[in-house]
Amino acid sequence: MSQQGYVATPPYSQAQPGMGGYPAGFGSSPAQPLYGHYGGQPQSFPAPPTGLMKPVSSPSGMPPPEVSSQYGSNIQQNGSHPQRYPAPPAAAAASPYGHPPNSPYHTIAPQAPAQQLTNQMGSMNLGYGPGPMQNPQAPPTSPPAQQPFQTAPPPTMGQTTLGPPLTGPHSPQMAPPQSPLAGPSLGGHPSLGGHPSMGGHPPMGGMGRPFPGPPPPGSGGFQQPGPGAAGQPGYPQQPQGQFGGQMAGPGMAGPFQGGAAHMSGPPQKKLDPDSIPSTTQVTEDDQAKRGGQVYTTNLRGQVPPLVTTDFTVQDQGNASPRFMRCTTYSFPCTADLAKQCQVPLGAIIKPFATLPKNETPLYVVNHGETGPIRCNRCKAYMCPYMQFIDGGRRYQCGFCNCVNEVPAFYFQHLDHMGRRVDLYERPELSLGSYEFEATLDYCKNNKPDSPPAYIFMIDVSYANIKSGLVRLVCEELKTLLDNLPREDGSESSTVKVGFVTYNKILHFYNVKSALAQPQMMVVSDTAEMFVPLLDGFLVNFQESRAVINNLLDQIPDMFADTNESETVFAPVIQAGVEALKTAECSGKLFIFHSSIPTADAPGKLKNRDDKKLINTEKEKTLFQPQKGVYEQLSKDCVSQGCSVDLFLFPSQYVDLATMGDVPTHTGGSIFKYSNFQVEMDGEHFLSDLRKDVEKAIGFDAIMRVRTSTGFRATNFFGAIHMNNTTDVEMAAVDCDKAVTVEFKHDDKLSEETGALMQCALLYTTVSGQRRLRIHNLSLNCSAQLSELYKSCETDALINFFAKSAYRAMLNQPLKTVREILVNQTAHMLACYRKNCSSPSTASQLILPDAMKVFPVYLNSLMKTGPLVGSAELSTDDRAHQRLIATAMGVEDTQLLLYPRLIPLHNMDVASDVVPAPVRCSEERLTDAGMFLLENGRSLFLWLGQACPPELVQRVFNVPSFAHLPADLSSLPVLDNPQSKKLRSIIDSLLDQRPSAMKLLIVKQKDRSEMLFRQHLVEDKGPHGGASYMDFLCYVHCEIRQVLT
Ligand SMILES: [Zn+2]
Repeated sequence: MSQQGYVATPPYSQAQPGMGGYPAGFGSSPAQPLYGHYGGQPQSFPAPPTGLMKPVSSPSGMPPPEVSSQYGSNIQQNGSHPQRYPAPPAAAAASPYGHPPNSPYHTIAPQAPAQQLTNQMGSMNLGYGPGPMQNPQAPPTSPPAQQPFQTAPPPTMGQTTLGPPLTGPHSPQMAPPQSPLAGPSLGGHPSLGGHPSMGGHPPMGGMGRPFPGPPPPGSGGFQQPGPGAAGQPGYPQQPQGQFGGQMAGPGMAGPFQGGAAHMSGPPQKKLDPDSIPSTTQVTEDDQAKRGGQVYTTNLRGQVPPLVTTDFTVQDQGNASPRFMRCTTYSFPCTADLAKQCQVPLGAIIKPFATLPKNETPLYVVNHGETGPIRCNRCKAYMCPYMQFIDGGRRYQCGFCNCVNEVPAFYFQHLDHMGRRVDLYERPELSLGSYEFEATLDYCKNNKPDSPPAYIFMIDVSYANIKSGLVRLVCEELKTLLDNLPREDGSESSTVKVGFVTYNKILHFYNVKSALAQPQMMVVSDTAEMFVPLLDGFLVNFQESRAVINNLLDQIPDMFADTNESETVFAPVIQAGVEALKTAECSGKLFIFHSSIPTADAPGKLKNRDDKKLINTEKEKTLFQPQKGVYEQLSKDCVSQGCSVDLFLFPSQYVDLATMGDVPTHTGGSIFKYSNFQVEMDGEHFLSDLRKDVEKAIGFDAIMRVRTSTGFRATNFFGAIHMNNTTDVEMAAVDCDKAVTVEFKHDDKLSEETGALMQCALLYTTVSGQRRLRIHNLSLNCSAQLSELYKSCETDALINFFAKSAYRAMLNQPLKTVREILVNQTAHMLACYRKNCSSPSTASQLILPDAMKVFPVYLNSLMKTGPLVGSAELSTDDRAHQRLIATAMGVEDTQLLLYPRLIPLHNMDVASDVVPAPVRCSEERLTDAGMFLLENGRSLFLWLGQACPPELVQRVFNVPSFAHLPADLSSLPVLDNPQSKKLRSIIDSLLDQRPSAMKLLIVKQKDRSEMLFRQHLVEDKGPHGGASYMDFLCYVHCEIRQVLT
């Protein structure tokens, strides 16, 4: 057992004692419940398909703890009850492994209610069926269908089919305004869509029971799809007009064409806006139901709490939802079913997601010189899905079923249940996520990696000098470099630093610690970039602090009188790559750049912005990067493990689509500060820079997603580069970057074995160690589409749709992209309607519960800058939004597409609680109100004209609304409860988000209100796009067309 063996050192010393994982000292402390959770649930995770598993004492003599007390002493919980998970909507209540296809769960368990909208009228008078959105005054258990939601009598227009009047929400035939339904507001109703006990939920009568008890006959009970329903689920492949038979021609897309002219009509108050599904309500309900709880990942196919919900994760065999989320947790068994429902099968993987302090960091496992144990055939890494057989001498791979020999050093006996007796001592056998130390085989040229380097490259042309940016950056770096990322527990960072300044030519600096003064070396031949010094360019900051500070002091003065306004750009990146190549390390370039690179050099760009292309076939060209130099640069960067972060300070068009190309293929980020002014934007920029420099990150990464037989990963979205169809290359991957993966069937999936996936990320740590980070996740499979719809996650779905739409717009006109989005949505919902809900009249809009707010997100997506097609928006801004969304995780796209609008005028200053957000609609604003709106990118404080003077005084230190200066951009620090509370809310928001946000203070009716209004996503978009209500009606119409 010399080299072999599972060296348990680093892993267990990392554990936070008592965090429910491995107790400190690894298995030696009987006082700590150790995987006690298995105790109470014989079906829990690592159980073999037989389901016979009983908990056993761990080899160290650990008694199986009581399930009820499992978290009592050692899990930090925000909430109260240790084990109060109501059965998750998916198959959580059933045994995770191999529950029989006809388990009682399918027939007995009451189903999640469907969201129903009854469209009684061609006039789009929407009302609720007795679904979950019941009259809140009625007790949740009151018999449904007797007291439907709409208490107002139906309008007298009679039961007409929805036809021409619905073809466009903005069409002149639009019904006259109707009185709002008399139903009471649903706001704040705690049990909406989330009855305390699903078991007690009565059947939904004829209208609302979404999942009929017995499985429908035939292939999942699926009826023959209507014409067009069999289209390719893959989104970009869909030819335009695939569903053309049902599309009413160009007019159909009217509402989404964007032109502001479409939007100029008077607002039509038709319905009570509370009557349509509410994102804030869904968020609140999930928080009420699952907030503050410990989410244990021991069940296959378990749907996690929403990203907006506060919960603690305990890894028990599946990766935390912070690392991986799926569009659905129950995959359809066959490709046909997947095709019919058109619900994309995807996972959003954020391999370096930040874990809260009360969750256990990943253990590092060392399998010695032989390296991590892997399946001989498919190369999957040792994980909880490997089944040990033959007395422990062999194991069967859960991914490819290959039977492998267990290496001698890894041999362990099995207990009477067939489990290895060391199961709970080995992270790779019992956890969803962990790391392996990689051997030299996993390193470039079989040589140990060097620690990465950060190179700061500052554009010192006239614009950046004049704005004060150069001085600001140099000042900041003096302190910021003390906070370079470091390995957990180490004193200082091993990341090396280097400095370059440039305009048309490049200046490299020798900052070797032995020097008294930094030395500058100039390279003016930018066509053949080389690094003029080997020694002294990349140094340790601590050692060279004096020389570096000297340099940072000098740089602003050296270029103070510059007249140079031209810049190069590609040679700057090239120089960075060459420097890393010379140093044989990976790293990151931080480039602070002002203008479009017009100097005569490789990668020279010209202004190609042309607003006339908007809403034409050629609009896509605005977003396509210029090929050639930049494409090659991306490849060079990726092969060197050189990530590029771009900080842009433009005063006009810079062709961001091209300049952002290298960052978005190298795991980098793009920050943009238009018309930068130090006083107004300095703090915003510095906050971004600090977060960016300090954040957790891995370098020179390559990721592979393996799956069990029957399906595979086919499509990848992210700040990534791909040389082949399987290896996802990332020059760097930080804690905020996510890769969205699409899966396709290549065979049948089995309900018994489910769908397993393993994401393996090989990377270099900030201290230069080569590691493998493994995330495993197991999903259910079902021949019933109702299972799929029940297990969907809207937030993950919209992430997938956003990324695929933003990619599709490079190749197709925006109008086509928007049509495809609507078509696919209509098909997903129509398929549910047809196969999973009880018979109902066509005039009802029936939405699956787990997808009921999907339309509001989709509509918001279509109104985002990239997809809206408005000449009023800057092309660079649109390109920027498109590029940053590509690497977003589920939290980020959720917030981006449904901002938080927080009323502050009534806040309880005595409490720590942030007021509950309200729906993003103008109707929620009040003249006497004050609201905070944030979407992760922008932050607004909106003030109504009648805002109480006392409040204005307390927050702004001016006597009234009228006294507020127009260009206010920050809050004064005042010593009163309102001011303190507001600033603390803002600070905590800023703290949570990946990037900094600049606070914009908006006065009602001011010109700046337009910026704010485009985030009120339930309203018509100021640059085009339908209101939520209109869009829902439009989608309903589309669904009906699909169904006929
Ligand atoms: Zn295998």
